[in-house]
Amino acid sequence: VEGSKDNAVLDSSTLRPSTSTKYPVYERFYTWQGEGVHLGRAAYFIRLYGCPQHCPWCDSAGTWHPDYRPAAVGLLSAEALAQAVAQESPDGAVVIITGGEPILFDLGPLTDALHALGRRVHIETSGIAPLRGEIDWVTLSPKPTQKWPLPEVVARANEVKIIVHEPQDIAAGLGTLDGLREDAVIWLHPEWSRARERDMAVLNAITEAVKANPRLRAGYQMHKLYRAD
Ligand code: SF4
Repeated sequence: VEGSKDNAVLDSSTLRPSTSTKYPVYERFYTWQGEGVHLGRAAYFIRLYGCPQHCPWCDSAGTWHPDYRPAAVGLLSAEALAQAVAQESPDGAVVIITGGEPILFDLGPLTDALHALGRRVHIETSGIAPLRGEIDWVTLSPKPTQKWPLPEVVARANEVKIIVHEPQDIAAGLGTLDGLREDAVIWLHPEWSRARERDMAVLNAITEAVKANPRLRAGYQMHKLYRAD
């Protein structure tokens, strides 16, 4: 798929109705945030099913690829999800809604239910649709070779995570960020297989980019060090 700002590249058949108050939950679990500004914070993850971006190196393809689709993705209401969050994590743990691509869904009912519990709500998104719901922290991960983020989501982002699979991904990712707030943090993360292989072309490109532009930060997916695979 060619990267583009043009909405026409989106497969609209994969977008869900905005009025749905039930969410397709691929998985949910309580752990800690492994990357970004909130690295190390206790966090309850809600991972929603579905993403039209189809990045070739996607590390969570189970959330969209037909070959991996689980037999049943649970459809849960905002209230049921909030109840699970309350039962399975203590007060103070943030809730991170991710995917897949969670911005496809109307998150308003869910964020309302989570705020009623007193929880902060974060989202991780590639920004390809309007953001619905009161979100306390937006992590934007633009995918410049796929559909670009909408300007309104770029303007709302608190931090940006550019995944670097090839050195040229740095400039391409930065090219999608017109209108980004001055105080938004911009991370450069080596794509995980590149990091694991210690791909020096990618790692050196990140180093040189950060040295040339102190607004950028070199990042890492710390949680992957803790996984058995
Ligand atoms: Fe995977 Fe994220 Fe790309 Fe969707 S946007 S295909 S979830 S990496």
